Amino acid sequence: MATIAIVGAGLGGVLAAYEIKAEARASDRVVLISKGDTYHFVPSNPWVGVGWRDREAIEVNLPPVMTRKGIDFVSVGAKRVHPAENQLELNDGSSLAYDYLVIATGPDLAFDEIEGLGPEHFTQSICHVDHAERAATAFDAFCEAPGPIIVGAVQGASCYGPAYEFAMILDTELRRRKLRDQVPMTFVTAEPYVGHLGLDGVGDTKGLLESEMRERHVKWITNARVAKVEQDKMIVEELNEEGAIKQTHELPFKYSMMLPAFRGVPAIIGLEGLVNPRGFVLVDKHQRNPTYPNVFGIGVAVAIPPTGKTPVPVGVPKTGFMIEIDGHRDSEEHRRAAAQQVARGTGNVERRLPRRFRR
Ligand SMILES: Cc1cc2nc3c(=O)[nH]c(=O)nc-3n(C[C@H](O)[C@H](O)[C@H](O)COP(=O)(O)OP(=O)(O)OC[C@H]3O[C@@H](n4cnc5c(N)ncnc54)[C@H](O)[C@@H]3O)c2cc1C
Repeated sequence: MATIAIVGAGLGGVLAAYEIKAEARASDRVVLISKGDTYHFVPSNPWVGVGWRDREAIEVNLPPVMTRKGIDFVSVGAKRVHPAENQLELNDGSSLAYDYLVIATGPDLAFDEIEGLGPEHFTQSICHVDHAERAATAFDAFCEAPGPIIVGAVQGASCYGPAYEFAMILDTELRRRKLRDQVPMTFVTAEPYVGHLGLDGVGDTKGLLESEMRERHVKWITNARVAKVEQDKMIVEELNEEGAIKQTHELPFKYSMMLPAFRGVPAIIGLEGLVNPRGFVLVDKHQRNPTYPNVFGIGVAVAIPPTGKTPVPVGVPKTGFMIEIDGHRDSEEHRRAAAQQVARGTGNVERRLPRRFRR
């Protein structure tokens, strides 16, 4: 009998638990370690951010689902992984021994790397449903006295699609509220060009997104490094191709949503051989860690090299479909299918909660 532990009950972790349970022997124990009882579908957060969905619509209470699947469920969260001892230290002081471990802990949101960034300070976030709810409240207040909006993704971010999506959502919602003409919008991004997306473009994303932004009267600043954010002002350094400051912008705003850079979560950051300097899990083509071959990584928690050099650091995104594939037993075959789908521009997860997550 083997104990297979999966840390992180997000998009990757839940699917991995289902797949592993289906493949494991009846005598094996599959344990999912979550932070709390609730799964939330991250790709729907942008909708929660303007009140198009409430959080109940995108959440699932995991314990009954996991009981039905025969998966053990631990809701206290992992404090630290001890890969040399095959142990998980849990937040309630107990520990769990494993034979195999899958790390699916997603990102730690690095708001603290930029002064004034994040929901504790002056910009909103849609990375977590709690943030998205706050963003919706802030947006309603903003609509009482509108002004300039800044949306985008800061230096080192590895998630750009949701920033574009949120800009379009805000544009649509402001039109519906008949306020759009009172709101100058600027898209601020670390990408070297609009539509780069951390992937040096996908098909014609450059042309398509530029055209869409022009159509919607959204201005943009690329190669942007956010120096700091104040109550109603963002200081943005625009770099040239050589990485020197070309222009410093002082952008006033009344509402801003900026995606932060990601890093590995505290439970794994700094573990020599397991993670890279940024705290992301090092894996081979089988999602297996080379130093600890009984440890696997999936989803946003995994280290992926950037596609190429850019004046401002730009990370590579991890989409829902890629994450599903990470958690799948035939991952190599499915990865090829995903590459084809991404090339065709159809590789995104659906916005509604997938059927298999529902009760
Ligand atoms: C706003 C937004 C919108 C997106 N939209 C799309 C989209 O439309 N299409 C698409 O393809 N991709 C999208 N993505 C990218 C990607 O699909 C999601 O980020 C996805 O949720 C990542 O899955 P994951 O399992 O790696 O991480 P997550 O879903 O973040 O799950 C990680 C889980 O691990 C838990 N955890 C962390 N630390 C611990 C610990 N110590 N112990 C226990 N649990 C822990 C977290 O609480 C979380 O529940 C979006 C991303 C964002 C941020």
